[in-house]
Amino acid sequence: MTVPPRVLPPVCCDLDGVLWRGTEPIPGAAAAIDRLRDAGFRVTFLTNNSSRPVRDVVRQLDGMGVPTPVDDVLTSAQAAAGLLATRVEPGARVLVCAGPGVAEALRDEGYEVVSDSPAAAVVVGWHRDFDFERLDRAASAVRDGAVFIATNVDATYPAEGRLLPGSGAIVAAVAAAAGRAPEVAGKPEAPTVELVRRRLGSRGVVVGDRPSTDGALAAALGWPFALVLSGVAGPHPSSGGEPVPEPRPPFVAADLAALASALIAAEWARGWPRSGSAPILPALRPRRSIPMAQGPDWKQFLDAGAQFVAVTRAEARRRARDLVAQGQLAQGQVQAFVDDLVEQSRARTDEMLDVVRREIQRQVKAFGIATKDDLARLEARLARPTRKPAAKAKKSAKKPAKKAGKRKVAARKPGAGRPSAR
Ligand SMILES: [Mg+2]
Repeated sequence: MTVPPRVLPPVCCDLDGVLWRGTEPIPGAAAAIDRLRDAGFRVTFLTNNSSRPVRDVVRQLDGMGVPTPVDDVLTSAQAAAGLLATRVEPGARVLVCAGPGVAEALRDEGYEVVSDSPAAAVVVGWHRDFDFERLDRAASAVRDGAVFIATNVDATYPAEGRLLPGSGAIVAAVAAAAGRAPEVAGKPEAPTVELVRRRLGSRGVVVGDRPSTDGALAAALGWPFALVLSGVAGPHPSSGGEPVPEPRPPFVAADLAALASALIAAEWARGWPRSGSAPILPALRPRRSIPMAQGPDWKQFLDAGAQFVAVTRAEARRRARDLVAQGQLAQGQVQAFVDDLVEQSRARTDEMLDVVRREIQRQVKAFGIATKDDLARLEARLARPTRKPAAKAKKSAKKPAKKAGKRKVAARKPGAGRPSAR
């Protein structure tokens, strides 16, 4: 018998400021995605950056060691095309003041992409070659009555070592010149909520670096928000950045590497909401209803290591301050202590998760349990021996002929009542 794959909620992960800054991968991000996928999470990507076609995004992901199906990349361009489909019939002329990713998404919806009036709609998004002529054409079409859609209104865009003007700056220019505000499609607006629900389902976790968009999207979806501090947000954000919100999100981590440990640890510690067809293994975990290992070694290992699991930099700094206050750590050693503790915590988390996973799978396999049906069969089997042996013995003593008949029935159904025969 094999234990079926666990059913975990999909991770809806932002890209800019989480996996990369511009074209520069963020250290540890690719390995973090690997660990999440190995743990059973489906990791998908959702970006407010509408400028590039999906296959370009997939190519960049592949180039940094994160192979991803095209269907697992969602963009604000797709959300904008979905929004437009509720306003304008396919086949209409749509003026694109955005990158090729928007043109691709609109063509996929059946629109004719144009760069000048007349146009039934104008879609504005981030692109580096925005200039006065494009501003003039887009604003004129909007003033002439075209539907006006913005892919997103992020004020800034995190690049290598600095923040660039974001789509919001370009949209603001068109809106000012046209005298009309756009409908916005990207995170955290309703068209993206609808896109995410359609593609990923009703449960998941949102990972991102921008509380005003990623965090707000999580709130709109009713999903947990996991904030990473590798992009625009931080305890002391630079101009154009965002502070860590209060109350703090359920997960706050320095980067995706630290966050992966926290998500995996949370998954094993508490379990995630699961569908009705979920395997029994996760359901049993929080209830602790399976007797643990015969030997105490792994339990001692867990007890000893639990305090070092999923330690964030903030937590490590708090512990360092306590040690400094107690005179056990010199002020000059704090940074090295924090770095060391966080690194050890990541390694320890992985190690402990492997131990727990192997132990639970071993015990579940020993019971022959993989699904709720298996558990029901096991319960039925455990309930039977208290009555049946005595009844059988009584019957066989009084009526030997019927006992022979029962043997014939058992011979016709050799697998009946044996869960391990599946
Ligand atoms: Mg971002």
